[in-house]
Amino acid sequence: VEAALGAEAEVLTGTRLASLEGGVGNFTARLEGASGVNERRFGAVVIATGVRTGSPVSEPFARGRVVPLSELEAHVEGLARRDRPRHIAIILDARIEEGKASSETAIRTALSIRSRFAAELSILLHDVRVSGAGLEALYDQARESGISFMKYDGEPRIAVSGGGVIVRCRDSVLGEDIEVSCGLAAVSVYGLPSPADKTLADAVGVGIDALGRMQENNVHLLPGLAGREGVFVVGACRGETYAPSIARDVRDVALSVRTLLFRKSMEVELSHPVVDGDKCVLCLTCVRSCPFRAMRVDAKEKKADCIPEACRKCGICAGECPAKAIELPAHSDRIVLARAGA
Ligand code: SF4
Ligand code: SF4
Repeated sequence: VEAALGAEAEVLTGTRLASLEGGVGNFTARLEGASGVNERRFGAVVIATGVRTGSPVSEPFARGRVVPLSELEAHVEGLARRDRPRHIAIILDARIEEGKASSETAIRTALSIRSRFAAELSILLHDVRVSGAGLEALYDQARESGISFMKYDGEPRIAVSGGGVIVRCRDSVLGEDIEVSCGLAAVSVYGLPSPADKTLADAVGVGIDALGRMQENNVHLLPGLAGREGVFVVGACRGETYAPSIARDVRDVALSVRTLLFRKSMEVELSHPVVDGDKCVLCLTCVRSCPFRAMRVDAKEKKADCIPEACRKCGICAGECPAKAIELPAHSDRIVLARAGA
């Protein structure tokens, strides 16, 4: 990667983002690495953690027994004829719902392996997503060739046992727990959340939804914006797993970063909402209504509080607060009324 990027970029491997402070054009990041903690300044931050690739050995993968779907065919090809498994399970939607690109990849891979190595194949998934030109015909072809499709609910449990693999899950059609035994299992990496989601999201101050997607896919911020100005989230960690869409979003974010940082000057509104602790009844309306997750609870002061770096000064919290406890200093009632009077 370093060779490809040259002097334009620095690659810090084995490094964790511990915290991010400041705002657009002037973020201070605390980075923890092998050489200890050091602080760096950045103008903008793009989170683009991807899915697991390469030859992972961590859960749910097990070297030689549970492989990434993208490596399945090459793995089977590399085995001696006598070692090739007779039954292979392909698992989609392991943790995150996948799209039709995954269904298509699974079906094409299964068809190819079946015709080349005469193996039995089962595709386990939450739903077969084949609506679209050519995909339904591909699905029919797979079924006619003997590939089985099993729909399940929840998360599958994958265990390596003896010389094979056992996949346990709840059959959504039968409503019963079932076991699928096979010689080899392949898991689609697009069905796994990004391994760095939680710690990274906490450090940057972005939320995570029930499916492990960063930024809760807030429709106001798609495709790449995060709640905090100067922070962008793009790709698989945001739930987008279709490669052409990721590429489009990356271009969009690159343009936004450039536009943001190459301005000659930047207007920064410094006044953020102030919460009157005597009036605040901690109803959390402001926390829920802020579209940028800039309101939090100050447990020590027992009142709501604003995160200045994340606040966009939209005023929604002040308008929603039933106790009239929030005021934007630059837009206080007194100033607005005085302007109106003038
Ligand atoms: S909406 Fe008003 S009263 Fe409710 S938590 Fe926020 S500041 Fe406090
Ligand atoms: S003004 Fe209030 S609602 Fe708007 S971004 Fe700031 S904290 Fe959130």
